[in-house]
Amino acid sequence: MPAANRAEIVVDLAAIRANVRRLRELAGVPLIAVVKADGYGHGMVESARAARDGGAEWLATATIDEALALRAAGDRGRLLCWLTVPGEDYAAAIAAGIDVTAYSVAELDEIAAGATEAGLRARVQLKVDTGLSRGGAPRADWAAFFERARAGELAGSWKVTGVWSHFACADEPDHPANDQQEARFHEALALAEEAGLRPDLRHLANSAAAVLRPGARFDAVRCGIAVYGLDPAPGHTQDLGLVPAMTVRARLAMVKDLAAGDSVSYGHLWTADRPTTVGLVPVGYGDGVPRHASGPHHGAEVGVGGKRRPIRGRVCMDQVVVDLGGDRPDAGEAVVLFGPPAAGVPTAQDWAEACGTINYEIVTRIGGRMPRRYV
Ligand code: PLP
Repeated sequence: MPAANRAEIVVDLAAIRANVRRLRELAGVPLIAVVKADGYGHGMVESARAARDGGAEWLATATIDEALALRAAGDRGRLLCWLTVPGEDYAAAIAAGIDVTAYSVAELDEIAAGATEAGLRARVQLKVDTGLSRGGAPRADWAAFFERARAGELAGSWKVTGVWSHFACADEPDHPANDQQEARFHEALALAEEAGLRPDLRHLANSAAAVLRPGARFDAVRCGIAVYGLDPAPGHTQDLGLVPAMTVRARLAMVKDLAAGDSVSYGHLWTADRPTTVGLVPVGYGDGVPRHASGPHHGAEVGVGGKRRPIRGRVCMDQVVVDLGGDRPDAGEAVVLFGPPAAGVPTAQDWAEACGTINYEIVTRIGGRMPRRYV
């Protein structure tokens, strides 16, 4: 039996194209579409093509390997990556025309060696830490970092193509860290200019900031989650006109009756308090369904026959049990775990809330054995 018969992830590439067009229109500046982590679970290469078709001027990945995979798949456009460790193959990235990110003087030294090895001038973007305390040059190092970057530019090792940073709290628009990070980014840009750097691309905003903070848009916005149609700041946004691109479907493997008092799944977390019917959905944490979707009380729901049905008991490796409330659909009936908003169908955001996580994690982790189908 083909796997698609059991369960599948359907990715609507037209939605990705439309979301990119919408974000371009909303932000009014070039878009860097973030396609790392296999396109947030939507498929990196296919999502990247759709984003380009929708008008994304840039793509971004975390790792050099991801960026090289996009090149191998034929992408020839502007491409940025940012997550490297010592000993990284910068020469390969430089030869592929990928913009690499540096956080430190040590990293710049490695990039200089990579440029020599490749016999080419690198394209380097400088990342500054404005308050996330993750990647990026610490504030105390900015002056020395920019000076080294300018020296390398004058020596012909690279062109500094960008200066950028990343928000910590963009999905909480009233958080004071946002103003502080934006102010520090201006400070970094001024210092870069003092050092003689004239990057074309200054960028700070992820999806939430692209939508909610016009002052943070600079020369481009770096959007991931909104490209896939999910709300970047639930509770803080109006309808943005974005369409979720992912639907996860399965088919009922079995339908059976339970009597009052029957308990369900490992650990017997849930016991029927009345006679009911349950359906066996043949997906589990082996397919990236979070075990936190288990439902003694507030589990996630799935859509069956136009109705939302709760998961009962623990999510297993390959299976979950849903309460059909006395309905008796046939085995083989379609189940939608989540998809775009529709009557009787939960969204990835609903799953995130049920599982105590964010929509990013729901779509990025789903997958495992499930095939993806693009429409
Ligand atoms: N920029 C960086 C450095 C990131 O790590 C991410 C994603 O985590 C993004 C941009 C895109 O963020 P979002 O998906 O919130 O738009």
